[in-house]
Amino acid sequence: MRLDKFIADANGLTRSQAKKLIKDGSVSVNQKNIKQTKYQVDAKSDVVQLEGTTVIYQKYSYYMMNKPKNVVSATSDDSEKTVVDLIAETKRKGLFPVGRLDKDTTGLLLLTNDGELAHKLLSPKKHVTKIYRALIAGEVTEKTIQIFAKGITLRDGETTKPAILKILATNSKKKETKVEISITEGKYHQIKRMFGAVSMKVQELKRVQMGNLKLDEKVNLGEYRELTSEELSNLV
Ligand code: URA
Repeated sequence: MRLDKFIADANGLTRSQAKKLIKDGSVSVNQKNIKQTKYQVDAKSDVVQLEGTTVIYQKYSYYMMNKPKNVVSATSDDSEKTVVDLIAETKRKGLFPVGRLDKDTTGLLLLTNDGELAHKLLSPKKHVTKIYRALIAGEVTEKTIQIFAKGITLRDGETTKPAILKILATNSKKKETKVEISITEGKYHQIKRMFGAVSMKVQELKRVQMGNLKLDEKVNLGEYRELTSEELSNLV
C-alpha cells in the first residue's frame, strides 16, 4: 500500500494532509526517513512512525458516542448540529452514524466509516436487538407488556415484531413509568409510535444497547471513545 494511504487511513487524515506530513519529513519506515508519498509499505511487517510514534494501521474507525439531545443523527445538515460535528475534525473522515436516533433521544450511537459492518448491524434480516430506557407518561401495566410481547399494530396500520417491555419503576402520583424496552427492528420513531398505539407518550428516551454493544456509562453525554478490540469483535 502507498505510504500516503497508510498515514491517511491510520490517522483519519485526508490524502493531501498525509502527503504534506510525508514531504515535510515527519514519517519514517523501518527507521529510515521517507519523503516519497508513493513509497510502498507492508501494513503487517513494516514499522511506520509519524513524528517518532509508531502508527498502527487501521482501515476503519469505530466510535461509541453517548448522543446528547438537540443534535441530529446525520453526517451533515444545513441548519442543525450533527453527531459527526461532535467528533474531532482530524477523526471525522468518512464517519457516519450507524442508524438514527431522534433529535431528542440520547444514548448509544455507533459511528464508523465501515459500510459493510453498518449494513450488517442495520439489516432487517439480522434482527439486531436494540435496548432503550424510557420514561413514559402514564401507568404501564402488565397488559401493556402483553400487548408489546405479541407485536403491535401502529396507528398507521404498520405492525411491529414482538418487543420485550420491562417495568423498572412506577410513580403513581406523577403517573409516570420508567421502562426498558428491547426491539429487533428499526422503524422510524418506533418506540414513540409503539407507545402512541396504546395512548401513551414517551417523555425521555435513551438507547443503552445495540447488539452486544453496551453504552459505557463513563462516556458522558456528547462524548465518545473508540471501541475496544473486544467490543469490536463481539459486535455482530
Ligand atoms: N424509537 C424512537 O421513537 N426514537 C428513537 O430515537 C429510537 C427508537
